[in-house]
Amino acid sequence: MPGRRTAEIGQLVNRQAVKRTRTDGCGTAQSQFRTVVSYNDFMNVAQLDDRGIVTPCPACGQKNRFLYERLADTVRCGKCKAALAPLAEPIEMSSSADFDRLVARASVPILVDYWAPWCGPCRMVAPELKKVAARRAGRALVVKVNTDVLADLGERFGVRSIPTLAIFADGREVTRSAGARPAADIEAMLEQASHKSHV
Ligand SMILES: [Zn+2]
Repeated sequence: MPGRRTAEIGQLVNRQAVKRTRTDGCGTAQSQFRTVVSYNDFMNVAQLDDRGIVTPCPACGQKNRFLYERLADTVRCGKCKAALAPLAEPIEMSSSADFDRLVARASVPILVDYWAPWCGPCRMVAPELKKVAARRAGRALVVKVNTDVLADLGERFGVRSIPTLAIFADGREVTRSAGARPAADIEAMLEQASHKSHV
């Protein structure tokens, strides 16, 4: 039931969503859904492999790998030698094996957003997560788990409602919280988690 639980969301976020729907012209849940799809296409520019996160250089397009153990580092593009800053966008998980490898080896805390495309509050929290990913680049990594696609992960971690936000550090879950929340609250969760886990 998209939209039914929008009252949970901050007013600012609500206003942005309404504006976007209106400019799309039809004002239905479907128009919001198109927005989400293009956003996900963008996130999928980054791919995980057995050693790290592979993403194209913004300057020359060459694919470069951020090693899981060195996610806080700025690396040099292998082709044009441009400095590539740590990842600053949420990354959509495409397999549970990728997720497990990332969580086990990441050198920074991982903030996980369990979500699904039909969930209204999930769409509201998506732009907040983008802000967190940008502000925390090199200090935390934001990843998204679509619980319709990776249902096994949702089940294994006992995710009962979406959105659920969870923080993993040193290979284990440190904290979680159900429901949408603004970027500042999500950052506060990260701060608290780093005190708990000594990351
Ligand atoms: Zn390059």
